[in-house]
Amino acid sequence: MTTLLLTHRASLDHLTPPGHPERPDRIRAIEEVLGNGQFGALVREQAPEGSLDQVTLCHDGHYIEELHHISPKDGIVYLDGDTSMSPGTWEAVMRGVGGAVAATDAVIAGKHNNAFVATRPPGHHAESNRPMGFCFFDHAAIAARHAQRKHGIARVAVVDFDVHHGNGTQEIFWADPTVMYCSTHQMPLFPGTGATRERGEHDNIVNAPLASEDGSAKFRAAFENLILPQLTKFSPELIIISAGFDAHHRDPLASINLRGEDFGWVTRKLMDVADATAGGRVVSVLEGGYDLQGLKESVAAHVTALMGA
Ligand SMILES: [Zn+2]
Repeated sequence: MTTLLLTHRASLDHLTPPGHPERPDRIRAIEEVLGNGQFGALVREQAPEGSLDQVTLCHDGHYIEELHHISPKDGIVYLDGDTSMSPGTWEAVMRGVGGAVAATDAVIAGKHNNAFVATRPPGHHAESNRPMGFCFFDHAAIAARHAQRKHGIARVAVVDFDVHHGNGTQEIFWADPTVMYCSTHQMPLFPGTGATRERGEHDNIVNAPLASEDGSAKFRAAFENLILPQLTKFSPELIIISAGFDAHHRDPLASINLRGEDFGWVTRKLMDVADATAGGRVVSVLEGGYDLQGLKESVAAHVTALMGA
């Protein structure tokens, strides 16, 4: 059993304003923890640069052009109150897209059992025609569509345990019966979407909102009682994880108060579903996680589970 780890130096070159939680140190923290001996068996590769054709699988052509056009030569350009581009942003984003696609290709080809793409910025708030919440292109969604178009995968599930609702992924797949989107997230909290009644046009969206201070037991119950049964019924041929670690109790942006081990637990549960319906195929892409210590603990638990340890 092998796990592929895709990273790229360009992730460090997307610069955000001082004090911004989504910062290059997040990637340095992940590199540090995955440099420990227990992760020696990871197969480490560079994330290739994605293509505009891949981005077009989920995003509007005019939006892609506009984003490319406003990409700055120096300084920082603000797209909204908390989403901004620096000269290194475009390549960082495209390495995230290319990483998610390459991970999907490798796992479907059977080269590795599963993969983790540790790039930034995150993607799940980016809608088909707008950036939002630190995100530009939705790499998890692009990987799902790529698996369908290039490899003929019929049903893909995107499972998102980031503490924020993935409004972008939900919007992209709202009317698509071939993709199931499942999310646990804190409500009320940014971006404000993700109520239980938001179910998509084909009951293909499963939202399990949690309240502040809900903690590990309610998080696990949301998976056991709602998400895992629906996921099993959908019978995905590939599971993509939007792996955000900002539900950790140390994280400054939220207060669901999970422990590192909860991320290992949920990863194993999703791998069980993948074993039953998807030949074990799991591709995980990094989303949020803003406390460096919390991020290290959570990523360690997640990747340990992926490696089957
Ligand atoms: Zn988040």
